[in-house]
Amino acid sequence: MNRALPASLSSDLNNCVKCGNCKALCPTHIEFANEGMSARGRAELAERFLSDDIDPSDLLDDRIYTCLLCGYCDANCPRGISVTGAVYEARRRLALKWKKHRLYRAAIKYAFSNPVLAYKAIQFLEQAGLLTALGSIKPFSTMRELKLKLPDDRLRKDVSVFKVPEPRGRVALFVGCTVDFLYPSMGGSFIHALNAMDFEVVLPKGEVCCGAPLLSMGLRDEAAFLARKNINAFKQLKVDAVISLCPTCAHFIRDIYPGLIGEGIMNAADISKFICDSSLIGAIKPVPKNSGRVFYHDPCHTVNYLGSVEEPRKVLRALGVNFEEPAEGGCCGLGGVVRLLHDDVSGAIREKRVAAFEGADMIVTSCPNCVLQLSGSFKERPIKHIIELIAAGIGKERN
Ligand code: SF4
Ligand code: SF4
Repeated sequence: MNRALPASLSSDLNNCVKCGNCKALCPTHIEFANEGMSARGRAELAERFLSDDIDPSDLLDDRIYTCLLCGYCDANCPRGISVTGAVYEARRRLALKWKKHRLYRAAIKYAFSNPVLAYKAIQFLEQAGLLTALGSIKPFSTMRELKLKLPDDRLRKDVSVFKVPEPRGRVALFVGCTVDFLYPSMGGSFIHALNAMDFEVVLPKGEVCCGAPLLSMGLRDEAAFLARKNINAFKQLKVDAVISLCPTCAHFIRDIYPGLIGEGIMNAADISKFICDSSLIGAIKPVPKNSGRVFYHDPCHTVNYLGSVEEPRKVLRALGVNFEEPAEGGCCGLGGVVRLLHDDVSGAIREKRVAAFEGADMIVTSCPNCVLQLSGSFKERPIKHIIELIAAGIGKERN
């Protein structure tokens, strides 16, 4: 499968012919073999809920909030129906009609609308040794389980332009919260690599969270508010592409924003696709040494929306990485706030993924959130974003 499909926030479920194609690769259906946990089952439940045929209930809430929003259903529907669009809408209605999760909703709204304050608060708790004490409370238990450690500094601080003497082009980096607050070194690798390929790199002032966590919690107006801020920050830029190292951010700002606020950042791209489409593959340098058995993990949104499947493999070959494919592909289990609300479901799907990497010494992927999720199980062995290998091949990094 290598096709990018538009995602919509409005799904015409009347066109559904109940064929079940959407559930063939649905991770929760594969894991639980239950129609209610499948894409087709969710589409039907959403349709009935949205047409006031059924009332909110714990069971409905469970089915709608165990959806990973991974998009395997959207990519496999022959009628072009966006099952995820129906799930987003069902979550919005649940947020209006149903009190469950209201504390998480409030926490996510606060954290992603004020990420710098949230980051500083968690940093304070960590430095004061209080995170361990809070370890039985979500989301701190999740942080502890994922061995999440905040770096000393974030990537974005103010407007930054990383210039080169004779630029062949100019790109913007949509940093995204995970890279900014958890993995700023991935952003450093991006700047180093793109500068080495003679691209000027811009990190514009005013970028905020892409809104995915808010929309996933049913907070559509709040997500739209952030979307408008990002459009204002990026639309005036004269750049060849807006690249995000996070495929969810790239998918949101390009595919979801039009349904949310009427316009998107249409030149948003995945790094491997940008490299291949811009004929930069010759600028990739082999990594100094291979790290044993390396497996490539496809992030859901890279495959199902950005359509970048062969491209990262081309980049890996140019890097001289002799990679293997896992026994079975699919979602890492993090998405759609499932990690937060249903960590049993998220953990079961992650374990299945990790089992498919048996014998691996290193996993390479194209998403910082997959790195985060898989690191909870893949213990002492490295999980790298592909940009880190690209930068390592080029050599000495700037600080
Ligand atoms: S694949 Fe599309 S048409 Fe078939 S059951 Fe799923 S949503 Fe309906
Ligand atoms: S988005 Fe993923 S988990 Fe949700 S219904 Fe579709 S395939 Fe299943």
